[in-house]
Amino acid sequence: MYELIIIGAGPAGITASIYAARKKMDFLVIAKEVGGQTNWTLNVENYTGFQMISGRDLVANFRKHLSGYGDRVKEGESVRSVEKAGEAFKVKTNKGEYEAKALVITSGKINKVLNVPGENRLRNKGVFYCATCDAPIFQDADVVVVGGGNSGLDAVLQLEKIAKKIYLVDSQPKLMADHVLVEKAKSSPKVEVLVNTRVLEILGDKFVSGIRVEHEGKERTIPAEGVFIEIGWTPSSDFIENIAKNPKTELMINCNSETSIEGVFAAGDVTSVPAKQIIVSCGEGAKAVLAAFEYLNRKE
Ligand SMILES: Cc1cc2nc3c(=O)[nH]c(=O)nc-3n(C[C@H](O)[C@H](O)[C@H](O)COP(=O)(O)OP(=O)(O)OC[C@H]3O[C@@H](n4cnc5c(N)ncnc54)[C@H](O)[C@@H]3O)c2cc1C
Repeated sequence: MYELIIIGAGPAGITASIYAARKKMDFLVIAKEVGGQTNWTLNVENYTGFQMISGRDLVANFRKHLSGYGDRVKEGESVRSVEKAGEAFKVKTNKGEYEAKALVITSGKINKVLNVPGENRLRNKGVFYCATCDAPIFQDADVVVVGGGNSGLDAVLQLEKIAKKIYLVDSQPKLMADHVLVEKAKSSPKVEVLVNTRVLEILGDKFVSGIRVEHEGKERTIPAEGVFIEIGWTPSSDFIENIAKNPKTELMINCNSETSIEGVFAAGDVTSVPAKQIIVSCGEGAKAVLAAFEYLNRKE
């Protein structure tokens, strides 16, 4: 029986683990892969203290920092379910079962992909999934944003200040984002909206050179240096039931990182906290463990 199990070892889980170690808690970390989404990030330019650091180097630093407190991570294990077992929680993975008095869930999210030719090959070579992270690269460039929901429109409005021309492409007949965002985007001379338009392929040799789309049975090529795929994400929250989730299936937390289940705390991209960023996840991970520490102390 551990005092605490931390599920996930992305920025939120690693920071949570460092705080748990420094509080001398008896804890375990279970993660499919240390680093989480940061492993997919080419360069991070908005993490305080680093003008620029590659995602891989940042994960290596995180790993080194955590290993200074001993080997706490069960890497390569996937949590299948979490159940209440009396006063404790039973965590079942693909490899075993563990029990703890409290949990911190930091299992993050998975960005949805288009699944078209060129997408994977040109990832980080013009294909990006986070405008807040990567829009500044496209100063005076032509870019495409795929997705007409709020994420897509948010990306368009960020790029509007940076890029020369932005094509907003959506397969639906109407943009589903909030009216105010749609109106703002449409009022910009830089933005061209293409609805009923399906992306068939992302083009480019070493870097993105454009996309091939289909609109009402006709194919067309749009030249562009960047493609932002903003078609949503899936929170990794399916292994826990009977807990409050919002319509996006993110875990609902309050400002003390508490979920609707006493003793279960959560942090980072898996939660309802809006800004999905490394630095936010780190801060939230720290907060969640401090809250869990206080909870356990009060219980004892
Ligand atoms: C391509 C890309 C570029 C980005 N660029 C930037 C950037 O430049 N700057 C920035 O601030 N943010 C960037 N982001 C966002 C940033 O990466 C995330 O906000 C951050 O990683 C979230 O951290 P997290 O710890 O909450 O979740 P994640 O990073 O998603 O980590 C989740 C962890 O949980 C584990 N996990 C998931 N499910 C299970 C399970 N069932 N069992 C066990 N373990 C599980 C995963 O293996 C992982 O260890 C980018 C994201 C992407 C996709």
